[in-house]
Amino acid sequence: MTSTLIHRIPAIALSLVLAACASNGPRASDDAAATTIAPKMALQELKAGNARFLSGDVRMHDWRHERTVKTGTDGQTPSVGVLTCADSRTPPEMIFDQGVGTLFVVRIAGNFQNDVAVGTFEYGVAALGVHTIVVMGHTKCGAVGATVAGKDLPGKMPAFVAAIKPAIAELPKGADGKASVSDAEIANVRWQAGQLVQNSEILSKAKADGKLDVLCAIYDVETGAVRFLD
Ligand SMILES: [Zn+2]
Repeated sequence: MTSTLIHRIPAIALSLVLAACASNGPRASDDAAATTIAPKMALQELKAGNARFLSGDVRMHDWRHERTVKTGTDGQTPSVGVLTCADSRTPPEMIFDQGVGTLFVVRIAGNFQNDVAVGTFEYGVAALGVHTIVVMGHTKCGAVGATVAGKDLPGKMPAFVAAIKPAIAELPKGADGKASVSDAEIANVRWQAGQLVQNSEILSKAKADGKLDVLCAIYDVETGAVRFLD
């Protein structure tokens, strides 16, 4: 979508178009608000949630209440978007100890951005109130490891290698001619986060207006700790 086109669409019309995609749009209510991380609290609450996950002292959830009353009836008001890997060890709701209706998540091998991911977060920001997006890679990532190794992969798997490759192209190479996988995991997160915003006029504008924070993080699959990058 060009900026000219966006500017031609009144904000309210855009929100109506976007709201039409939702089975149940956001609606303010005390219950729904309770599931929302306030803008200034996002990073602090994510860190606190990960600390609870690490300690094992996680919140008790009434899943049925969260599903039916808080979000099923009143609609969703997620405040934090997460782009992370499909890896079975990286479930963001558990890692950040969050319940139903708080995180707006895109998962794909190698946590790379593409048009579908961008469009998904545009919807989250424009229609649902997402004010923070975390691009979270992880240690021992098979998709990043395969890209570093330059393996020939069958089927459609070369698609994620192609998406990660430009993110690590500038990394220094070791004696084996390859970059370190941990450096590549960090470089991939930073590059994908940059591209996510750069490829979207809606996200770029929200960021420029101070309505969107984009954070980068690496999850350690052995310790369970999330490290937010500067
Ligand atoms: Zn991975």
